Amino acid sequence: MADGGALEVLSRVFGYDQFRGPQQEIVEHVIGGGDALVLMPTGAGKSLCYQVPALVRSGTGVVVSPLIALMQDQVDALTELGVRAAFLNSTQDFARVREVERAFVDGELDLLYVAPERLLTDRCLSLLERGRIALFAIDEAHCVSQWGHDFRPEYLGLSALHERWPDVPRIALTATATQATRVEIAQRLGLEDAQHFVSSFDRPNIRYRIVEKNDPRRQLLDFLKQEHAGDSGIVYCLSRAKVEETAEALRAQGIDAMPYHAGLDAATRAANQARFLREDGVVMVATIAFGMGIDKPDVRFVAHLDLPKSVEGYYQETGRAGRDGLPATAWMAYGLQDVVQQRRMIDESTGDEAYKRRSASMLEAMLGLCETVECRRVRLLQYFGQASQACGNCDTCLEPPQAWDGTEAAQKILSAVYRLWKERGQRFGAGHVIDILRGKRNEKVEQHRHDELSVFGIGADLSEKDWRNVLRQLIAQSLLTVDHEAFGTLALTEGSRSVLKGERTLMLRREPAKPARARESSRARSAVTLPPEAEALFTALRTWRGEVARSHGVPAYVIFH
Ligand code: ADP
Ligand code: MG
Ligand code: ZN
Repeated sequence: MADGGALEVLSRVFGYDQFRGPQQEIVEHVIGGGDALVLMPTGAGKSLCYQVPALVRSGTGVVVSPLIALMQDQVDALTELGVRAAFLNSTQDFARVREVERAFVDGELDLLYVAPERLLTDRCLSLLERGRIALFAIDEAHCVSQWGHDFRPEYLGLSALHERWPDVPRIALTATATQATRVEIAQRLGLEDAQHFVSSFDRPNIRYRIVEKNDPRRQLLDFLKQEHAGDSGIVYCLSRAKVEETAEALRAQGIDAMPYHAGLDAATRAANQARFLREDGVVMVATIAFGMGIDKPDVRFVAHLDLPKSVEGYYQETGRAGRDGLPATAWMAYGLQDVVQQRRMIDESTGDEAYKRRSASMLEAMLGLCETVECRRVRLLQYFGQASQACGNCDTCLEPPQAWDGTEAAQKILSAVYRLWKERGQRFGAGHVIDILRGKRNEKVEQHRHDELSVFGIGADLSEKDWRNVLRQLIAQSLLTVDHEAFGTLALTEGSRSVLKGERTLMLRREPAKPARARESSRARSAVTLPPEAEALFTALRTWRGEVARSHGVPAYVIFH
């Protein structure tokens, strides 16, 4: 199939009349024998960037791909188009392996997909010596990054390909585009001389929206009914149980919703996925187990009921909406509990300290996107190292959130946490601290005589909802933390001090609504001054933490005991 140029192959074999975006430039570069590093968002059409050159150049295109589950589908699709394609992976019996090997040696294959651990075996390397190779394509190249979320140790060995076949062009492709990943890929794969092709990661037809979570199921239902009635879409939840409950609740409201998570048997998963792909208006309620390799162009919305753990994850998941270029919505409900839950998952994970630190900083970037008062799209693209203009289409562009000076409110919360610890030697969770601030006399307050504290009632001017809002932003900014080893109680952090001392102004999202009976006690108005003993406490804390961290390697934010 070596006859014809790139465009001829594109139309004759694939049935498309033109290349998309940078495809043509990439294809021509590789056909000419150059190395390439391709960064393109999911769904943009990376496969053609190596498939077309493999067909134009003589010999077989050898494709390294970590997604064994998808190899069969890819090869089937190519075979249907008349492309001579095959794969080698651990799912095949020996007879089939022999057959594929013979076809390769005899020059009967245009494309050969190989799992990375397979490729680097002696058997496979010596097989490759016996045939003719058109190019090496390394798909999902970010798997070579040890800091990424999909690290595959076998990918580290792939630089050997270049040493063995210096004249064969190599093309590495990925949708993970941070500058750091890019540098790492080029380094580890020995692609220093490769030309970089970096596409825009902007998805202009997706409208980003992140709403404050208060009654998530109700909010989701309103969103679906008012904006996406009858549309296909995906609703992501963190847990399997929540997937089941949410799907059930939507069905009860007449929405054609189905669950998808790894706990369902394979047949149910396959059936639900097939319905979602084939029929119109099906809503898939899923964990992140759903979506990889799903190519459905008319997904009109992606909704998140729980916070993703990274911006990469959020981008991948929301990126499944609007592949057809028509308007689509990325909607998320986000609240205090999300921050608490994600922090807990990091604390409780079995990863080492470096892993936890990395996870915490990925979460921080995600929280930054949620709490931003800037254009969401600008923030998102900034994360991928791309500058852009305010989009005029996301929620913060359409309704700029009013930033307000939350310094005093923050000081009140931090003082309450501080006082409780100082005067009662105890720490409490968010709900109780808010009750104290608002001066609510309930059983727990009376039992602990918390109404006698100086901080009791100093926050009666804000509603419970407003306080949760402030708390969430404080935790998101690490000015306050939740100690999961102490039953989710609130604890001060090193950052708390500068706020308590009034050394910094804290601008928060969204002005709290003034309550009808706005009555500010004189105490509430007076600035909170940090008592002298607090200074000593913070000093002791720093010393203590330093010692403990040195001797036990505990996370730096476990404090006050
Ligand atoms: P990626 O690997 O970047 O996620 P794929 O290679 O799987 O994306 O392509 C996504 C979809 O876009 C596929 O359905 C593919 O057929 C389609 N596509 C790719 N290039 C073109 C093109 N030039 N014209 C039309 N459709 C294209
Ligand atoms: Mg791909
Ligand atoms: Zn915007």
